Amino acid sequence: MKKLTILCDADDTIQELTVHWLAELNRKYNYNVKKEDVTSWDITKAYPELTPDEVLEPLYSNEFWSKTTPIDGSSYYLEKLVKDGHRILIVTASNPETFGAKTKKLMEMFPFLSKEQIIREDNKQRIMGDILIDDGVHNLIGGRYKKFLFNQPNNSKFNEQEYDITRVYSWKDIYERISNLVA
Ligand SMILES: [Mg+2]
Repeated sequence: MKKLTILCDADDTIQELTVHWLAELNRKYNYNVKKEDVTSWDITKAYPELTPDEVLEPLYSNEFWSKTTPIDGSSYYLEKLVKDGHRILIVTASNPETFGAKTKKLMEMFPFLSKEQIIREDNKQRIMGDILIDDGVHNLIGGRYKKFLFNQPNNSKFNEQEYDITRVYSWKDIYERISNLVA
């Protein structure tokens, strides 16, 4: 079986970000925005009365990152991919200020990963790998890797077929597709 280098996004691909982010803003500013309402990458559009700084503020809090949770099935299937012999690299665009807290939480949620496997990088196209799994279309377009778009409301309007990108719907779906690729 072929062994792959699998690049994998963190936010909203292996860990829930948007649900916690919205919960924080909804609580603080008394809104009721739901994840399904956020159908573009720019979350500030969901809070037109708030300033961009107010919307982004939670992302600069270490405590906020300590409260994030794994996406359904991500830990189980990532560990299965590791056991199958693949090399996993988590590639995340992150604020340097909170990257430590985020890494710490990721290592708690995914204890089979080491800190060397968690990379902060804004331009993911610079990283070499066989596949990138990501919910952000801007990370997939132009990359030399095979592209799996993790289905989320923020990318629901994107036509992945125009870009040779495969939309994936769950971690079970991802695991089965990768297993088929290397069989
Ligand atoms: Mg993401």
